Amino acid sequence: MKSIIIANWKCNPNSLKEAKKLFSEVNKKAKAKNTDVVVCAPFVYLGLLKGKNLGAQNVCFEEKGAFTGEVSTLMLKDLGVEYVIIGHSERRKYFNENNLDINKKIKILLEAKLKPILCIGETKQEFEAHLKPEVIETQLTEALKDIKKEDVKNVIIVYEPVWAISSNGGENCSVDETMTSVVFIRKIISELYNRDTSDIVKVLYGGSVNSFNSADYIKNARVDGLLVGASSLDLEEFSLIVKSVE
Ligand code: PEP
Repeated sequence: MKSIIIANWKCNPNSLKEAKKLFSEVNKKAKAKNTDVVVCAPFVYLGLLKGKNLGAQNVCFEEKGAFTGEVSTLMLKDLGVEYVIIGHSERRKYFNENNLDINKKIKILLEAKLKPILCIGETKQEFEAHLKPEVIETQLTEALKDIKKEDVKNVIIVYEPVWAISSNGGENCSVDETMTSVVFIRKIISELYNRDTSDIVKVLYGGSVNSFNSADYIKNARVDGLLVGASSLDLEEFSLIVKSVE
């Protein structure tokens, strides 16, 4: 199966000039055999970045209408966007997104033939209280409610323990812990759908990935790729991460 490395630029960089430069350099330098490299940029830059595998970081749960400040699936499609991050923990935390909103967004994305990148994962408190399985199961079950087997194959799932995101070299999720979560996610998909579907769905890891740990996750955690935040803003670092997949 083809691996996928996704850059999540979050609310960066500060100017169109920097965004264009980083995007074109990533397209030239961050390459590996049998790997798709996707860049999820802020909305304002999307129409101005020319290239394949472009992603957004959010979408409106309705197709059009009176939703001030929102951006629709149709607008994103028109700009050539192919992927959209949904349910990132920062959106759940700061913008109160819940599993019902996330479910609506996944449905509208699939209808528009855009690929949702669904982020799930437990907080530190939940992890310490040994609630990880319940949290993951609820997030998956509610986010994928009423989504058909044929469609769920186009959803990319990312296990992102909230406590391991943006840790700046601090707390990392071990490869073993990641693998346990990935296996558990596939088990839930298999229960919700079937074994074949759970084998096809891509499951990625995200949380303080850098060029020192990326190969270990890819080789030993049974992931199909990585979602990379901070390290994706550093061209050299991001290129090394992409190359480490080989
Ligand atoms: C993310 O934003 O999805 C992420 C994984 O960030 P970081 O790599 O900075 O932890």
